[in-house]
Amino acid sequence: MHDSARNLKICIIGAGMGGLTTALALAKAGFQRIDVYEYASDLGFVGAGIQLAPNMARILDRLGVWADIEKEAVTLSETYIRQGSTDEALAHVNLDYVQATYGYPHMVGHRSSLAGSIFAGCQREPAISFHFSTNTENVSFFPKPSFTAVPRAEGAAPQRIEADVLLAADGVKSNTRVDMLRELGVTAQVEDSGQAAYRIMLTREQMSGDAELLALLDGDCATRWIGPKRHIIAYPVSGKAIYNISTAQPDVNFAAAPSASYTTRGSKAQMLQVFADFSPKVRRMLDLVPEGEVCEWRLRVHAPLPTWVRGCVALVGDACHPTLPHLAQGAAQAIEDGAVLGAVLRRLPDAEPRSINKALRIYEDVRKERAELLVELAAANGREMHLGEGKAKEERDRLFKALKEGKGGGQVPDKWADKEVQRMIYGHDCVKEAEAVFERSFAKL
Ligand SMILES: Cc1cc2nc3c(=O)[nH]c(=O)nc-3n(C[C@H](O)[C@H](O)[C@H](O)COP(=O)(O)OP(=O)(O)OC[C@H]3O[C@@H](n4cnc5c(N)ncnc54)[C@H](O)[C@@H]3O)c2cc1C
Repeated sequence: MHDSARNLKICIIGAGMGGLTTALALAKAGFQRIDVYEYASDLGFVGAGIQLAPNMARILDRLGVWADIEKEAVTLSETYIRQGSTDEALAHVNLDYVQATYGYPHMVGHRSSLAGSIFAGCQREPAISFHFSTNTENVSFFPKPSFTAVPRAEGAAPQRIEADVLLAADGVKSNTRVDMLRELGVTAQVEDSGQAAYRIMLTREQMSGDAELLALLDGDCATRWIGPKRHIIAYPVSGKAIYNISTAQPDVNFAAAPSASYTTRGSKAQMLQVFADFSPKVRRMLDLVPEGEVCEWRLRVHAPLPTWVRGCVALVGDACHPTLPHLAQGAAQAIEDGAVLGAVLRRLPDAEPRSINKALRIYEDVRKERAELLVELAAANGREMHLGEGKAKEERDRLFKALKEGKGGGQVPDKWADKEVQRMIYGHDCVKEAEAVFERSFAKL
């Protein structure tokens, strides 16, 4: 890296997967002054599992934090898509080929292990400073990026902070996105997807009395149970000590009481009612959740933005491409953003704002189309899995049947498990692509 660039003051808003990876990638690139501002008092991640796809693992391995995550994670060797109402297997897909093909297996883990390990990697970098319990607001873009940092501690004074580069990984509710769109004169808001998700973690002890359920925890399998407008996906995490369950269903509760809240304590009776026509095995599984431990998430999205970059400010992760979870790629895409920012900014030939803007536009060029395609694909996969009676469902079920009988082209209607889709998602090396695009286009911009 050019010496003048090394000392650029880089501020990052948000310490989610996107912000943490961006900070780590920039420190590894050689930047010396990286400040991360986070509203929460600590990482504060909810108890939930997360899929660790090979495109995510490849990046985290290069950044030196994958080994810790891998230790606790579970390798998936197969997946079943089952009819929710009967438990009948609609499709079985072997996932063993993933490691041989993409260099990493398809793993699943605990969110706290993923975030905690990236955070630990950041803490080993003297260039990174964290400012927790600090809200940021009023982002300005010119002549240099600046924002107000408001410490949440009583009596602490707000501070106006100026940076050379500002990277806003402030999530789906991003204030920075709102400020950017206002300046651009664009009216666009976060949108309800009409779907909500229950997220549940069952311990081995809670499952121990039911041999059939225990077999799910002991398997190396992700299972998706599908039904009209709803599905459940579940897999073991934390060295198979915990069975992680995530659902999707029509949003009734958030829609009935609109508020700024994205999560709420759900009613167990209501959750059981939503899946009342699912098989007895699924209902027994859901019934193991202790009363008071049902957490419901509102699933929100945003129309594609006209741009992710203004001056020396760029949006990262859910701030610019919030997604439905039906492809399990939201965090992976935020992590790809961070890696690409590291790759383009490390190639800065100088510390001029014009060069920074050019590098950020290359970041957008490399990332925007891919991230938005995956957002669309995730939404489409939800629609496909949630089909009710009708021609479209008949066609989907015909494909499931052909797959089961080994006929047809091996296409899996659940795109998450489809080899062609996996090739597009897992086979993509975003850092290599960023390097190539930078070489090709920086001088021409
Ligand atoms: C049910 C469900 C299942 C999912 N499963 C998967 C999966 O299996 N695999 C996968 O890859 N992804 C999955 N995702 C998606 C993934 O969780 C998100 O896409 C990802 O966490 C986004 O990371 P982020 O860093 O962009 O945003 P966030 O995690 O939202 O982080 C934003 C951070 O910014 C902070 N912040 C916000 N505003 C301010 C402010 N003004 N000042 C200071 N700090 C601020 C917030 O406190 C927060 O810590 C799932 C999502 C859901 C809802």
